[in-house]
Amino acid sequence: MPEPMPALTIHNPATGQVVAERPADDAVSVASKAAAARYAQPAWAALPLRERLSTIERFRAALVAELETLAATLTSEVGKPISQSRNELNGLLPRIDFFLAQTQAAIADEAVFDDAGMRERVGHVPLGVVANISAWNYPYFVGCNVIVPALLTGNAVLYKPSEFATLTGLHIARLLHVAGVPPAVMQTLVGGGEVGAALLDQRLDGLFFTGSHATGVRIAQALAPKLVKLQLELGGKDPTYVRVDADAKAAAESLADGAMYNTGQSCCSVERIYVHESLHDAFVDHFLVTVKGFKVGDPMASDTYIGAITRAPQLAVLDAQVADAKAKGAKLLCGGHRLPGPGNWYAPTVFTNVSHTMELMREESFGPIIGIQKVRGDDEAVALMNDTRYGLTAGVYSKDEAKARELLARVNAGSVYWNCCDRVSPRLPWSGYGDSGIGLTLSTHGIQTFTRPKAWHLRGPTPDVA
Ligand code: NAD
Repeated sequence: MPEPMPALTIHNPATGQVVAERPADDAVSVASKAAAARYAQPAWAALPLRERLSTIERFRAALVAELETLAATLTSEVGKPISQSRNELNGLLPRIDFFLAQTQAAIADEAVFDDAGMRERVGHVPLGVVANISAWNYPYFVGCNVIVPALLTGNAVLYKPSEFATLTGLHIARLLHVAGVPPAVMQTLVGGGEVGAALLDQRLDGLFFTGSHATGVRIAQALAPKLVKLQLELGGKDPTYVRVDADAKAAAESLADGAMYNTGQSCCSVERIYVHESLHDAFVDHFLVTVKGFKVGDPMASDTYIGAITRAPQLAVLDAQVADAKAKGAKLLCGGHRLPGPGNWYAPTVFTNVSHTMELMREESFGPIIGIQKVRGDDEAVALMNDTRYGLTAGVYSKDEAKARELLARVNAGSVYWNCCDRVSPRLPWSGYGDSGIGLTLSTHGIQTFTRPKAWHLRGPTPDVA
């Protein structure tokens, strides 16, 4: 008798109900998909770039045509408020537009030397077969940051969406196939960590991972003997400093959104806030008013702002951070507890009187919870912002751009924000310092990262027509 196919059951984190069941991959199917991708990739890479651009244009059009259904599916499997699911899909479109507009120039041959019959050129050739092991919190963003430029530059992609965003992952692949990407060139692997681990056993030319630091380290260890190009986009403990000259109300409203949007489950969520002592109390008052105005509830309701906690085990992490903060003297201003189910719910939580002795100010919370710490001035704020093993984003709110830029230059973070937060741009590289990862996506560097440079030394009189 043949072995029964493994299956993955998908639950709605807002209700606990089963949403769907899908056939899952196993070591055998992963190996056969990897072999098919290896076989198919050269023909894909040999197509004129114009044809690959056209398929991604059709993929974009298909996303627009199905946007409402895709948003509802995303909300049903991750518990994200429906308005924020729509925002994610709408936000994906300019990213795709950026890749469509920039790929040709990013991978064109570069003429770097011409002298007396000797020419030097830098070429950009696809890596080959790349794997994308992905997170659930922004599955369209983090999935397509890799998939779209990898395909455009001529790679085949083995995509392992998070087991918490499988339906979305399958939609991405389906729409790419409908748009004309050959099925063997874009393959989805369904399952949890064991399927990701099976992928690491295949012959790969690049591994692009988005997820937690712990999994990133495991992947780096597994791949080390194989010398595979590795990128890791990991977590953060992103700080913001509200300077003495900031507008307390405007900063509070902006930062409450930065801390709680996507139910605090963003890699670049504001996770620590430092406020100058002179405006601390006013800031906290405005912050609380804003947080209390956020509607918690049914993610399918269009006015919901705080949705479900996607992964049930995260509730225990939040409980532990709250208990630790309280035990060490933090002042709880709101929340600090789970909300009744069914499903996974946590009340928006705000603490003041916090310090770096507390887990809340040291380890990623990944939920609707924030600590606000009073500081005496710029140097103390910069020292606290840098007192972390992470370095994804950091921000300063101030009326003085020059001062804010001077402080941000001293902060160890891949992206820095003046008077804004929780923002990603396709035009800028997205990368982290320290335990926030290695490598980058987005920007023209995030297109070239799916290629390897090829050095051409050309001696001879023939004019270069490339
Ligand atoms: P996770 O590490 O639990 O899982 C990520 C992926 O790794 C999943 O697809 C999972 O199935 C897979 N996986 C798990 N074990 C594996 C193994 N042993 N081998 C191979 N694959 C394995 O992370 P998550 O909960 O999906 O995502 C949340 C984390 O992602 C947070 O820390 C967040 O900050 C981070 N994140 C970072 C960025 C960024 O751009 N830096 C963006 C989004 C999310």
